[in-house]
Amino acid sequence: MPNPIRNPLVGVLGAGQLGRMLALAGYPLGMRFRFFDPTPGSPAGQMAEQIVAPYDDYKALESFSQGLDVATYEFENVPVEAALFLSQRVPVYPPPQALSVSQDRLTEKGFFAGYDIPTPPFAGVNTLDELKSAIDKTSLPAVLKTRRFGYDGKGQSVLHTMEDAETAWQAMGSQPLILEGFIPFQRELSILAVRGIDGATLFYPLVENHHRDGILRLSLAPAPNLSTSLQAEAEGYASRVLNALHYVGVLAIELFQVGGHLLANEMAPRVHNSGHWTIEGAESSQFANHLRAICGLPLGSTAPLGYSAMLNLIGTIPDPARVLAFEGAHLHLYGKEPRPGRKLGHITLRTDDPSILGERLALLQKIIK
Ligand code: AMP
Repeated sequence: MPNPIRNPLVGVLGAGQLGRMLALAGYPLGMRFRFFDPTPGSPAGQMAEQIVAPYDDYKALESFSQGLDVATYEFENVPVEAALFLSQRVPVYPPPQALSVSQDRLTEKGFFAGYDIPTPPFAGVNTLDELKSAIDKTSLPAVLKTRRFGYDGKGQSVLHTMEDAETAWQAMGSQPLILEGFIPFQRELSILAVRGIDGATLFYPLVENHHRDGILRLSLAPAPNLSTSLQAEAEGYASRVLNALHYVGVLAIELFQVGGHLLANEMAPRVHNSGHWTIEGAESSQFANHLRAICGLPLGSTAPLGYSAMLNLIGTIPDPARVLAFEGAHLHLYGKEPRPGRKLGHITLRTDDPSILGERLALLQKIIK
């Protein structure tokens, strides 16, 4: 392992809440931060230097890169060209190739398939005829998605009939699409892994995720009723991705559980919302471990501390005093203006006794309503 730099200056593309929590994890280690984001006053920019410019402003990227020891990103729709431009000036982790794989759902699913990681059946769609033959492959129901720039369930349509297919095509057909078989999964899970510059790899326990309207609402960690075989299956798939990409940093893979097995839905080459529980609920958080990895430091233990439920605060913020008065609740606010559908913060509820977590969570949800 190369000698780690003391008090490294870490450059982060994107200055949202993920960047803010990275900085909060890095300050105790003496790290310094500089962010790059087109939106002024972003959550991370409220606590560290932020360069405000579009991601294709190469002059601004050049001055951003000056003096950085390492660069990373906290937003997976950062243009790959910006990451590549930086990588000619300073080490960039995770490798920009991870960005290009994850930015296009068709490339991503093809990548998973290429490493024998099972996925829902899928096919690329560029014309109405291709949509019809894709339906022959996946059968109905199926999910039509834009290949790029989809997040939190945006740019998706569930097709039940051939008529739905025609309607969805009219609405979405002007851009490259992917059709996936609709999976009647038992539950959604995610695996978070971290790989160091020296190849050392650790995994957090699988997390159970609950979405509504395509947005993550609740994560339970470790996932209830987690078998060692399911954890091993997830770790095996994550290892293939990490090794194939010579990955450094935290990687998240979102999975569907069907029977006793897993299908890969998508990956995020960054710290992830389903890992926020690790701040209080694991020995080392995903944010600390991402920074340790990219700065060439030893990784920290990913062992869970008790049982956690992470609730996203979406659209509105509850009375902080009520949350803080609730035993075991940890409040995080991101410094964002309330707006419908916007992730404004989260609460992690941690207990040592798994049998009371559900009851405590129900009470907390009632209190913050
Ligand atoms: P995504 O943007 O691909 O993560 O999709 C958002 C959410 O839509 C997922 O978390 C699932 O709840 C649901 N979803 C996506 N793809 C499928 C699929 N092939 N089958 C069933 N549900 C899906």
